Amino acid sequence: MTPDQYFPLLTTPAGTIRHAEAVPLTQLAAQFGTPTYVYSKAALVAAYQAYASALAGKRATIHYAMKTNSNLSLLRLFGELGAGFDIVSGGELQRVIAAGCKTDKVVFSGVGKTADEMRLALQHGIKCFNLESVSELDRLNAVAASMGKIAPISVRVNPDVDAKTHPYISTGLKENKFGVAFEDALPLYRKAAALPNIQVIGIDCHIGSQLTEISPYLDALDKVLDLVAALRAENIVLHHLDLGGGLGIRYQDETPPAASELISAILQRLEVRGFGDLELAFEPGRSLVGNAGILLTKVEYLKHNSAKNFAVVDAAMNDLMRPAMYEAFHDMVAVQPRNGGSSGSAGNPQSYDIVGPVCESGDWLGRNREFDLAEGDLIAILSAGAYGMTMASNYNTRGRAAEVLVDGEQVTLIRRRETVEDLLRAEQEI
Ligand SMILES: *Cc1c(COP(=O)(O)O)cnc(C)c1O
Repeated sequence: MTPDQYFPLLTTPAGTIRHAEAVPLTQLAAQFGTPTYVYSKAALVAAYQAYASALAGKRATIHYAMKTNSNLSLLRLFGELGAGFDIVSGGELQRVIAAGCKTDKVVFSGVGKTADEMRLALQHGIKCFNLESVSELDRLNAVAASMGKIAPISVRVNPDVDAKTHPYISTGLKENKFGVAFEDALPLYRKAAALPNIQVIGIDCHIGSQLTEISPYLDALDKVLDLVAALRAENIVLHHLDLGGGLGIRYQDETPPAASELISAILQRLEVRGFGDLELAFEPGRSLVGNAGILLTKVEYLKHNSAKNFAVVDAAMNDLMRPAMYEAFHDMVAVQPRNGGSSGSAGNPQSYDIVGPVCESGDWLGRNREFDLAEGDLIAILSAGAYGMTMASNYNTRGRAAEVLVDGEQVTLIRRRETVEDLLRAEQEI
């Protein structure tokens, strides 16, 4: 499979310069500089519609896990398409509000919600707090009582299934910090049901990220449904079942199921188990944005030593942390063909390590990549729409990259490049 086939954003009209939708990437680099994140509206909409159409006619909500990419313009787009949001901080709730999106379809996940964050979420009438511990339940009840409010809750259970993914992004095993152990869930629900300022409305789980198989979801679902049944027997009736996010994308040679395949398998299992009437919720992140974004970067220097060829580019680990953090693979393509080749590798291809300028040996973006490169060339780093910009930092006093959204021939700057003045302000204003 070539990138053009799995990466809907990139096109190569007439085998020449790479485009994002109808816009040449060379034009974007000239206009906005590099490094720049480029997103495709068509790819974002298509990824969302894959979920929405699979759930058409069902009582179901899609909560975009916005930690994946929380640019206000993307939130607005997903909000307009009908999405709610899965947040993990008060700051993310403020982004939802700043984007002009509704807060009544927000679910609040995370193990460490502060009292201030709970207060903010209660003020704005979110749909549900996804609780992760007894202490959190007690705190939420107290905060809600102090405001004269009732907090809607779901318990995040840890179904102890192996998501068969990278240990850093697996969350549904006993040794992970996430969720409430299965055997502790029932007593926690009993306690929640008896608290005056808590309303039990749901149950949720999220077993990991970059899942490429359906079976762990079904294993988790079976366990969660056992619990739903046990709760029903005690007259604790749940209105919704939230299966989290986690569906993987193709970075290299993975073959994750399509959203429609995953959802139809889940719907079928619910039907078989007699829970066809339960309202569903999903919290997809990566699968909505990952392959709708690239990071556009320029080759500053080519450097050769006896062991290696290095291409030093102007993007770095502070812009895209995933390779340094998880040894993640991001495919890369040359933006302009050299020597008449359409792939950019027709002349004198060599194996390069693609590295950034940050002073860390861990600052690499790709290893042993075949490229025919010259200084000044542009490279598109693929599958960078998820956990790219949101994990970016200012390490080495580097301003964060610009972000642009492409819609056909139309280009919108959706975040300007950060300046050094932006970075210094918080220290100079004191
Ligand atoms: C991160 C996260 C998600 C989204 O995960 P993806 O793998 O990006 O789909 C959903 N729910 C919760 C609770 C999360 O922490």
